[in-house]
Parts: sequence; structure tokens; C-alpha cells
Amino acid sequence: MRLTVIVPCYNEEAALHYFYEEMQKVMQQMQEVEFELLFVNDGSRDKTLEVIRELAAKDERVKYVSFSRNFGKEAAIYAGLEHSTGDLTAIMDADLQDPPALLPEMYKAITEEGYDSVATRRVSRKGEPPIRSFFARMFYRLMKRISKADIVDGARDYRLMSRPFVDALLEMGEYNRFSKGLFGWVGFRTKWLEYENIERVAGETKWSFWKLFLYSIDGIVAFSTMPLSLSALFGVLMCLVSVLAIVFIVIRQILYGGSAFGWPSMVCIIMFLGGIQLLCIGILGSYLAKTYLEVKKRPIYICKETNTSKKNRMEIENE
Ligand code: UDP
Ligand code: MG
Repeated sequence: MRLTVIVPCYNEEAALHYFYEEMQKVMQQMQEVEFELLFVNDGSRDKTLEVIRELAAKDERVKYVSFSRNFGKEAAIYAGLEHSTGDLTAIMDADLQDPPALLPEMYKAITEEGYDSVATRRVSRKGEPPIRSFFARMFYRLMKRISKADIVDGARDYRLMSRPFVDALLEMGEYNRFSKGLFGWVGFRTKWLEYENIERVAGETKWSFWKLFLYSIDGIVAFSTMPLSLSALFGVLMCLVSVLAIVFIVIRQILYGGSAFGWPSMVCIIMFLGGIQLLCIGILGSYLAKTYLEVKKRPIYICKETNTSKKNRMEIENE
């Protein structure tokens, strides 16, 4: 049985050695498995690539794909899935927040218990700024309501997947990737393991609050069209309100006459309607923008250097 571990790395020079050591222990423990460590260097600006090359030179199980610039973790995951040669494929962060020690248990769930994939979720968010946890919770609650994709609170990207599962993910070559949604969307039988949050071993997080916020909007736009219906609903509601207002004004005119007053309320109403219109146009715009990017069919990543034998998409398409 061959098992590929995909490790997206962006400025992880400090963490990689710890990661490799930790993986070494697990690989020794799982003698029956043939491992492949597939590092995806996501355009790091530090010595990450050098460290990976060093590892590759002394250990032939180490493979890598290096991007021409930073394409984001989603692109790194996709590149990893494309280049994975394993019967089973795992995705694991480089900072040891996804404990490699869980691998044997995950492996057993697929090979012995007949699951297609094993996912993990953290049940606590300790060590995280409270405001971030709060917004994360809100996001998952909202997602549950407005989307059919089954997105689990606290789910990590750390998973082990069977070949059919990976192939299904690769079928979805969309440009706007939101893996947490895609994993749920493809279905299959998934077992969930839980663990307490672990803080990263070295280096620092690549996700600012703003980056996370934009990512959550991506997630909503990718997996729900509810905001579009919502803007239509706003429109209908506003029409109803204005009809009521007209009736009110006409009746008031007939009963009391004269109507020079009411200018401030008029301004408020105009501003309110203007705001709602802009909001709805904005919602429309964000879907249009995603469609635009999708239609262009740009590659999800550009590979600059690799020691895997698999060609990247660009090369295949150019043949
Ligand atoms: N990462 C990446 N590209 C990016 C940002 C992050 O490949 O643009 C990788 C990063 O190297 C790490 C994983 O994604 O292996 C998770 O990132 P991080 O630990 O910074 O996120 P957090 O755990 O704080 O959510
Ligand atoms: Mg991390």
C-alpha cells in the first residue's frame, strides 16, 4: 500500500525539520506502508525550498512541487492531489498542528473499517484570538443554513483519502477552490476523528483576520446561491413597504391635506433604498466576478520546479 502525504508549505523553513522528524517516527511505526512525502512549496520567500531540496537529497521518499509564486493553500492542495501517486493520500500542515501520530489510526479506518476517507476536527480553539473563534463559529453556523455542502465546524484540512475520493476531488477543476466544501460535496463515507487544538511548532500563522474574512466570503459564494435569492427578497420587501407608504400618504393627503413636512424622512428612505440597491449589486458582482475568473480557465497553479515524474497541467495541455 502506497501512501502520499501532501504538505503545503509557505515560509515554513523553521517548522520543516520538526515536521520531518515527527513524520520519520510515524513512518518507522508503519512499516507495511510505502510512504511518499510530497511537499508543495507555495512560493515561499524564505529558505523553505532549500530545506526541502536537502530533505529530498537524503531521502528518496521526499518529493516536491515548487510554485512560481504564492498561489494560496487551496492551490497547493490541488497541486498535491494532482501529483500524488499513492493509493491513499493525506493532507497535512507543515506546522505540526495536524498531528502525524494520528495517521496509523486513520490508516486503519480506511483499510480495515471500510471508510473512504478519514477527516479530523478540532474540538477546541485554545490559543486562538477569541474574536477569531467567534467569527469562525458564526461562519459555520451561517454556512450550515445557506448551503447544501456539509461543512463541519472546526474541520481541518487534515485528512486521509482513498484513491476514488482523490479522483473525485480532481474532477472538480474549479478555479475558486474551497476544500472544506469540496470534501463534503463529493460524498463518500467519512469517519471523523477529534482532537484538541495544538499550537504551531515554529514560525507563525499565514492567515490574518482579513485574509480569513475574504476566504469565508469565497466559501459562501462557492457553495451557496442564497445571497442572490436574498437580494431578490430584499427587493420584493422594499416594494411592499413602498406600496404601504403610498397608500398611507394618499390617505393622509385626503384627510388632512398639505404636505410640506416629511423631508428628513424622505432623505432617510432614499439613502436606505440606495444602500440596499448597492448591496444587491455588490452581491451580483461577486458572483459575476467568480464566474469571470472561472470562465478564463486559468491554471490553478504554475509549477516552476519539481522532482516528481508527473507533468503539470500546463505541460499536458501543451502537448
Ligand atoms: N500555507 C500555504 N500557502 C499559503 C498559506 C499557508 O501553503 O498561502 C500552508 C502553511 O505553510 C501551512 C498550512 O498552509 O502548512 C496552514 O497554514 P497556517 O498554519 O499558517 O494556518 P493556521 O493553522 O494558522 O490556520
Ligand atoms: Mg497552522
